[in-house]
Amino acid sequence: MSLIPKSHPRAKSLYIREKLVKGFDSGLVAKEGLMAHGRGETFDYLLGEKTSKHAQKAISAAAFLLNNSKYPVISVNGNVAALCPREIVKLAKTTNSKVEVNLFYSNEKRKKNIVRILKKAGAKEVLGINPKNSKRISGLDSARRIVDKDGIYKADVVVVPLEDGDRTIALKKAGKKVITFDLNPLSRTAKTADITIVDNVDRAINKLISECKKSRLRKAPFNNKRNLAAVVLEIKKNLARRMPHA
Ligand code: ATP
Repeated sequence: MSLIPKSHPRAKSLYIREKLVKGFDSGLVAKEGLMAHGRGETFDYLLGEKTSKHAQKAISAAAFLLNNSKYPVISVNGNVAALCPREIVKLAKTTNSKVEVNLFYSNEKRKKNIVRILKKAGAKEVLGINPKNSKRISGLDSARRIVDKDGIYKADVVVVPLEDGDRTIALKKAGKKVITFDLNPLSRTAKTADITIVDNVDRAINKLISECKKSRLRKAPFNNKRNLAAVVLEIKKNLARRMPHA
């Protein structure tokens, strides 16, 4: 039961924060993941905590790419597992994607906890846990370069919510198309991915699922850099609107 009153002006943001804290307490989220969430919250605040038309545009482009991919894979880390495990499984079923656990701060126990929560949410198969299946992608150091040979290694399209820039760059170098959810339009991941959904994954993932369910998606022109620039302008406008006037 949440202790946050519904009337609290930041209620939704605080519910999301609560999920992260619970995820930390149950061994899904790393300490660093809590901090990364804080960075995300700041941008969410500046974006008005809603899905912008630019995010919606990226969602449509992502749905088209996913529905037209040959071997899509969704990469899951602790934060994503704490925020939206059921939705990850739903997105995987809708788009016929594989699900792979892939952690920045590798930790076997945390990996097992993430697999458990995904299975509880309905996942039949979770990749990334069998050492016999490990393959290396180039351009990354040690543990971070390990991926599953039946998962990311083979994928043509990878969905990497809340990813670090190095890994996104390595995935691009390995020839993958990358879709990310990242609240920071200035992050390296946001700038490197093919499609960046600048929105809270907690809010936007259901919108992506609905879009993927549409049977006839049309390919609309999408330019990620231009879309990111439009998001930055949106933030600028929001800041001007909210600025205290002396
Ligand atoms: P980069 O290496 O890409 O420049 P970074 O080092 O800032 O990025 P990380 O801390 O590895 O990034 O990853 C966290 C990223 O995820 C941040 O850009 C943060 O804004 C974003 N983020 C955090 N929580 C959420 C969320 N709930 N939804 C979407 N994005 C989020």
